[in-house]
Amino acid sequence: MPVALLTGVSGQTGSYLAENLLARGWDVHGIQREDSRDPLVPAAVRLHQADLADFSTTAEVVAEVSPDTLWNLAALSSVAASWNRPLETSLLNGAAVANLLQAVDGLPSIPGGRGFVQAASAEIFGSADVSPQTESTPIRPVNPYGASKAYAHVLVGAYRAAGLRASSVVLYNHESPRRPEAFVTRKITAGVARIVRGTQSELVLGNLDAKRDWGWAPDYAEALALVGLSPTADDYVVATGESHTIEEFVAAAFSAAGVTDWQDLVRIDPAFVRPTDAVEMRGDSTRIRHALGWNPTLAFSGVVEAMVKHDLSTS
Ligand code: GDP
Repeated sequence: MPVALLTGVSGQTGSYLAENLLARGWDVHGIQREDSRDPLVPAAVRLHQADLADFSTTAEVVAEVSPDTLWNLAALSSVAASWNRPLETSLLNGAAVANLLQAVDGLPSIPGGRGFVQAASAEIFGSADVSPQTESTPIRPVNPYGASKAYAHVLVGAYRAAGLRASSVVLYNHESPRRPEAFVTRKITAGVARIVRGTQSELVLGNLDAKRDWGWAPDYAEALALVGLSPTADDYVVATGESHTIEEFVAAAFSAAGVTDWQDLVRIDPAFVRPTDAVEMRGDSTRIRHALGWNPTLAFSGVVEAMVKHDLSTS
């Protein structure tokens, strides 16, 4: 049974990836800081406690588990928060990745080689001049989060050039009912559900004009799994290829909840507007579609509807 080690296993995408790999028959281990099991983490996942900022303890866990493949999904994942916590962002999203790469690279070799899969982000491209972006779009981040992810992405390429089966998967925004409300999609769908229920009066948002390429998180977990299973390593953009404004998301969410007259239910607060914000992110995932047969099962409207339906039934 191949052994997987996941960081970020209790997060949205990590928990979907754990389910995906367990279903494929992998022995799945997870590293997490907390000593309690998050309800999202399947019972079959074997948990190891380590703070990724504690480099030696983390390296010891990697040596003990000795994974065939390590998937690194742990990160300080909020672009907005990265402006308030730039040092912690660079430590967890940057230096900790160097530590994990070194730890995997130092394990005894196995047939086919050990695998390393990095969850990179569209934020590495920042305000790109080209749309859609591909694996060869210049890396030019515009916030501390993107800069930390850019460092890790480039470092993964360096380890691959040096012989490690290390891949970097450039994930565009991916959403689901497991998304925390710190992200705009869940803030909108949970808010719309509460407005329908009468427990919230309005949605308070920032920049409504930014365009994002929103996909379905379980599809992105599938992409990460396929990359880890591939005998060859590469960089891959994972996206739907469709972009929509935040305002379009708001309209679609209200519409999915049966509310047509929503303009007066939305207020803009400059506190939620960021110092810099990429205008449009849209990814071209031709490479992973052709090389590994990946295909998204849901795009924009399907994602919005699934999230609103979930929040209407639970919130
Ligand atoms: P990100 O793309 O990984 O930063 O994901 P987010 O869901 O946090 O943000 C997506 C886009 O929504 C960005 O362009 C934000 O500026 C925009 N946005 C507008 N209003 C809000 C808000 O109230 N909260 C968040 N998180 N984002 C907002």
